[in-house]
Amino acid sequence: MTVPRPVTWLTDEERAWREQVAALAEKSVAPRAAAMDRAAEFPADLVTELRNAGLMGIHVPERYGGRGGHLFDVVVAVEELAKADPAVAVFVDVHNALVTQALLTHGTGDQKRAHLPALTGGGVGAFALSEDGAGSDALALTTTAHPDGDGFLLHGRKRWITNAAEAHLFLLLARVPEHGLTAFLVDRRADGLSVGERTPKMGIRATSTCEVRLDGVRVPRRGVLGAVGRGDVVAVQTLDIGKLGIAAQLVGLAQGALAAAVSHARRRVQFGHPIGAYQGVRFPLARAGAEIEAARTQLYNATRLAEHAAPGGEPARAAAVAKYLASEAAERTASLAVEILGGQGFAEAGGVEKLYRDAKVGKIYEGTSNMQFRTVAAHLLRGVAEVGRAPGPPDGTGAAAGE
Ligand SMILES: Cc1cc2nc3c(=O)[nH]c(=O)nc-3n(C[C@H](O)[C@H](O)[C@H](O)COP(=O)(O)OP(=O)(O)OC[C@H]3O[C@@H](n4cnc5c(N)ncnc54)[C@H](O)[C@@H]3O)c2cc1C
Repeated sequence: MTVPRPVTWLTDEERAWREQVAALAEKSVAPRAAAMDRAAEFPADLVTELRNAGLMGIHVPERYGGRGGHLFDVVVAVEELAKADPAVAVFVDVHNALVTQALLTHGTGDQKRAHLPALTGGGVGAFALSEDGAGSDALALTTTAHPDGDGFLLHGRKRWITNAAEAHLFLLLARVPEHGLTAFLVDRRADGLSVGERTPKMGIRATSTCEVRLDGVRVPRRGVLGAVGRGDVVAVQTLDIGKLGIAAQLVGLAQGALAAAVSHARRRVQFGHPIGAYQGVRFPLARAGAEIEAARTQLYNATRLAEHAAPGGEPARAAAVAKYLASEAAERTASLAVEILGGQGFAEAGGVEKLYRDAKVGKIYEGTSNMQFRTVAAHLLRGVAEVGRAPGPPDGTGAAAGE
């Protein structure tokens, strides 16, 4: 009888990959994180370095120029990068866990051949679902795609699009009249597509978040990802994996914050002892450690589940739980780190105030915490319809897109 391995035991390949990404994060990301945050910029040479390290095609097969890993490798990489800079982590996450993931799952052979080599070779991907009136209620989006000859004409506005400033390819959701939501692959250079200014924001400032405007953008039929009218399937399945990437970012952020707090608690002497000798400091650190361990274990289990089980159902529920637990651990641990570092925690130079700012969005994007609760509640209360709720997505999980 084979005894199953703990989910947190990595294979030799996974461990080697983790160490490789951790080394890159320490050498090339951590030293510039503060400056990137201040400048609110994502340097082009860093994208090149990420590409050279295999981080722009982590689970893309080698025949498309990728590293040939699997989803767990994406999660491990995002986690390691987030220890150094959660902004770099989310850049890599959106590109891999949303855009290349959706292409790998829903793309035809031609679409994979057309887009994956570019995405692994230096191109950047962005995922455009949200709109002004469609946030948590994401599937209520109003961007239209009218049939036009052998393609479609897209009109609308997308809001809050991560990586939009750097993106070469947008995976974008629009509504085809009489058919419904449809996913499109749209080239950045398409006529009628424009990207707005970066939105100044509280945290993850180095990553761009912009409006994307579509004023009569022509997309050929070969640009439809999945089937016409089944964009909700593409969106929901993609976001269920995307949540794992965000959970990884938040778990990594929390570990980075805890490491800074523990290191300070060892060194800082007050009342004749390191502050880490006092129970009032030890116990909150222990609680943070416990919360991170719980979130990380859930994340790893949910990721392995997503790799082995059909989408929707249990993997979707597990991803929602992972994202919720990780967002709680990240926000609480970053806040604790600010307090443990005292005045230095509040000062920019201390490093942890940035983590505190970066953590907050974890409870908002890829579905607010309430949207994760909706997914979990739909499983707990199966058969009891939520009051005022719109019909569920076609996978039958009762999950909300909510991104
Ligand atoms: C930095 C950043 C990056 C982003 N990147 C992307 C991206 O790359 N692509 C993309 O498509 N989107 C992106 N988003 C959008 C993000 O996913 C949305 O902001 C998020 O889904 C919440 O939508 P909203 O902001 O409209 O808030 P709302 O939906 O208006 O929610 C406001 C509040 O109401 C609560 N609420 C709403 N409905 C309910 C309900 N039925 N029950 C209980 N509570 C409810 C929410 O939980 C929340 O607390 C990004 C957002 C940010 C801030």
